[in-house]
Amino acid sequence: MNDTCILWFRKDLRLDDNPALIEAAKHERIIPLFIFDRNLEEYNKIGEASHWWLEKSLISLSEDLNQKLNILEGDSLEIISNIIKEEKIKHVYWNRCYEPDRIAADTFLKKEITKLNVFAKSFNSSLLWEPWKIKNKSGNFYKVFTPFFKKGCLQTDQPRIPCKKPKELFFLKLFKEDNIYQFKFQKSKNKWYAKFEKIWNVSEAAAKNIFNNFLENGASDYNVGRNFPSKNSVSKISAYLHWGQISPFRVWHEAKNRMSGSHKETFLSELGWREFSYHLLYHFPKINKQNLKEQFNKLDWNVSNELLLKWKKGKTGFPIVDAGMRELWKTGYMHNRLRMITASFLVKNLLIHWKEGEKWFWDCLLDADLANNSASWQWVAGTGSDAAPFFRIFNPITQGQKFDKDALYIRKYLPEIAKLPNKFIFTPWLADKEILSDANITLGLDYPYPIIDYISSRKKALDAFKKISN
Ligand SMILES: Cc1cc2nc3c(=O)[nH]c(=O)nc-3n(C[C@H](O)[C@H](O)[C@H](O)COP(=O)(O)OP(=O)(O)OC[C@H]3O[C@@H](n4cnc5c(N)ncnc54)[C@H](O)[C@@H]3O)c2cc1C
Repeated sequence: MNDTCILWFRKDLRLDDNPALIEAAKHERIIPLFIFDRNLEEYNKIGEASHWWLEKSLISLSEDLNQKLNILEGDSLEIISNIIKEEKIKHVYWNRCYEPDRIAADTFLKKEITKLNVFAKSFNSSLLWEPWKIKNKSGNFYKVFTPFFKKGCLQTDQPRIPCKKPKELFFLKLFKEDNIYQFKFQKSKNKWYAKFEKIWNVSEAAAKNIFNNFLENGASDYNVGRNFPSKNSVSKISAYLHWGQISPFRVWHEAKNRMSGSHKETFLSELGWREFSYHLLYHFPKINKQNLKEQFNKLDWNVSNELLLKWKKGKTGFPIVDAGMRELWKTGYMHNRLRMITASFLVKNLLIHWKEGEKWFWDCLLDADLANNSASWQWVAGTGSDAAPFFRIFNPITQGQKFDKDALYIRKYLPEIAKLPNKFIFTPWLADKEILSDANITLGLDYPYPIIDYISSRKKALDAFKKISN
């Protein structure tokens, strides 16, 4: 009897704590498969940074599978059905994804391959709590984070203990070359993402190392240090979590065992925010397309390509905003505090729709994640279900003074103003000619004048908000 099964990798690109792999390992042979399926939004509209990360991940996963990963491009159902027929497969396993079009496609695929007399089973590898399991007392889903996490998550089953990679595994490569999916990014030298090569190590082993390094170094200061972008107090595991190179179950339990006090509580609750984003995505499948608070559909957003471009390029004239945008461009990552400051600036000072910012982050972030990105943008914009109120506007001057007091972060990403004294580095336009000249700066040439007046832009945003609140 043919005892070969298909293991379909998706956003679970690892061997550790992989429930579908554990099930597949009960068979004699496994056909490991990855499909780049352009019918799905996540591949059709994949951001360049994510695409780079994905290709690196596939190369690394294939290495971990003794070069046996079958990497194909095409329609998932067609590819899987063909393999089923040609190889006389009876079992197909995968771990679940939660994007709305993926859920629909998986449901259809399961139904279709079951008709071929195949047993198809999916597992949970990427969320600590399935989004449909957490309900409030009236049986509805949660719209506010704190009760979601404290009453919903923490008072139901605790996340399961992670499982180890099975010992005996026999993988089959059906396709001699990865000729169906063409790797696009590996040889690019001059593109903006080429620099990621020097910064990021993309593999399951690297994910484990980076998290371990955080637990040994940054974790003891997490609760405070996480607010200061020049400190190494955050884990930087978000992209690995997104593609599943590290299991959230492993992260949760390691953090629980190795962190302590308020640092542990805060870190676990940040993982909770990730769960909350998926909970919202599941229950509001249009979260990346529509304001959750419908009153914002009436807001008179500003449409200005010129201002948008200055924001994208980190040329707003507000150093903390520009440093954040340059970090994103240079590294494919942006510290959480900076994500909040730059997003608030776009939406509330430039009054540009959050969708524009969400799109730019989607293209540039290595951790671009449909649930986290759109829920976070709606949170900052004030349009989400549990969001910072619209009238709470991050002040791009005092945020810098408070969270980058010595301007280490600003100086790192804005070398052109590095010589300004701390007193003026958050507000170069207030420095007199002599100070600017000592720092080798001609405003408007080396570094821009502010593109808006902070006080009046704030007032304009509040007025626009008042109009839709009546
Ligand atoms: C406008 C905006 C856009 C964002 N877009 C994304 C995105 O596309 N992908 C993404 O993973 N995160 C996004 N975030 C959330 C957060 O900024 C990142 O998860 C975090 O900065 C990743 O860095 P880290 O791994 O060092 O985080 P750590 O502080 O070490 O946290 C550990 C993990 O917890 C989760 N987490 C932490 N903070 C949040 C949060 N606020 N919301 C949801 N999950 C969180 C992440 O999975 C993170 O890797 C966004 C936030 C904002 C304000």
